[in-house]
Amino acid sequence: MARLVLKFGGTSVADLERIRTVARHVKREVDAGHEVAVVVSAMAGKTNELVGWVREMPHVAGANAPIYDAREYDAVVASGEQITSGLLAIALQSMGVDARSWQGWQIPVRTDAAHGAARIDSIDAALLSERIAGGQVAVVAGFQGISADGRIATLGRGGSDTSAVAIAAAIGADRCDIYTDVDGVYTTDPRVASKAQRMEKIAFEEMLEMASLGAKVLQVRSVELAMVHGVRVFVRSSFDDPDAQELQTETPVGTLICDEEDIMEQQVVTGIAFSRDEAQISLRSVKDRPGVAAGVFGPLAKAGINVDMIVQIISADGATTDITFTLPEGDYDRAVGILENPDSGIEFDALNGSKDVVKVSVIGMGMRSHAGVAADAFKALSDKNINIRAITTSEIKISVLIDAAYTELAVRTLHSLYGLDAA
Ligand code: ADP
Ligand code: ASP
Ligand code: MG
Repeated sequence: MARLVLKFGGTSVADLERIRTVARHVKREVDAGHEVAVVVSAMAGKTNELVGWVREMPHVAGANAPIYDAREYDAVVASGEQITSGLLAIALQSMGVDARSWQGWQIPVRTDAAHGAARIDSIDAALLSERIAGGQVAVVAGFQGISADGRIATLGRGGSDTSAVAIAAAIGADRCDIYTDVDGVYTTDPRVASKAQRMEKIAFEEMLEMASLGAKVLQVRSVELAMVHGVRVFVRSSFDDPDAQELQTETPVGTLICDEEDIMEQQVVTGIAFSRDEAQISLRSVKDRPGVAAGVFGPLAKAGINVDMIVQIISADGATTDITFTLPEGDYDRAVGILENPDSGIEFDALNGSKDVVKVSVIGMGMRSHAGVAADAFKALSDKNINIRAITTSEIKISVLIDAAYTELAVRTLHSLYGLDAA
């Protein structure tokens, strides 16, 4: 007998039929004698719809002002998961499985006050543990908790993964199964490169990079938590027949996220990730003086805008500099408003920018001991006439910013270059 957390994402609970299929997956594990906690997302598209409604409401204007009251945003968008948790509990009961739903505040899952992107501080899992030990399935609404001020808080988009891993850590689960619409973690998004291959295993560090660089199969924070608490995370498909014979066996198809030492043959490059949620801003001929970078990035940081890649070039006259940086696409207009505000004290000749950019990244722990990985990437992209707008590197990744129109071409080119294509 094991203690399991099973998490089902949006497409896995997209309609009532899918929820009944999920219930059969859960029942299979219960029948096998396991103690089970389930974490569910909102039905596919539901969270987007709710976010859209909030955005459409009249809100406080102004470049530096918050767009809307984030506590009320959370009250609205957390509701999607409440619905699926109740529906799945009902489906399980109808199959003779003892089950009940739990909202974040009922457990409680305690978070900080960063509404809209809250972090989990602690989970008091005593009651939940007691119930599942008694044979009742806990169906937990993912993505949500309760902040110190007693308000519903959500964990940022894709946050149900984090709920699942955090609950697995809190109840000491033997494994956290992330059921989704693909049967594991691939060398790149299989929807973009048909030659992508499923990995049997991937190291925490690499999964962390893949996730933070755009592979949305797992939320970044869930990977961090799994790494810190040593939770065994297994990514698998909810689209298999729940009663298939092979699922009764001990080794279903999927990808295990594990320690680096558990991977026998380490590749130089493990995967390619990309993020379309990027925008670029270039400030031309900024007056070069000490403190100029602080002058530009200070106000952006104050407005909660995360700047990522930064390139600063000294111009020929030595008196001015060009600064290029990237930021999330959704923050672009606000950032331009801040930089162009005459009171900002930032002097430059022109501001150019684009939202039609994408960041493509090559990830692999083997890069630590291999030279030339970056040079090969730049050559391969230039052979395809893909212009690189900005570059960043770290020990185990290389990222390039390119025009969005070349996303697929760049991903597939790099995927082939490093020998990741399926035969
Ligand atoms: P869920 O609703 O189950 O949380 P998500 O849509 O958040 O599912 O994540 C699954 C999706 O992640 C897949 O459909 C796939 O298109 C995308 N994805 C991106 N990169 C990868 C990758 N390297 N491996 C697998 N899936 C990936
Ligand atoms: N429903 C939330 C979202 O769409 C959380 C999740 O699915 O993980 O972001
Ligand atoms: Mg997800």
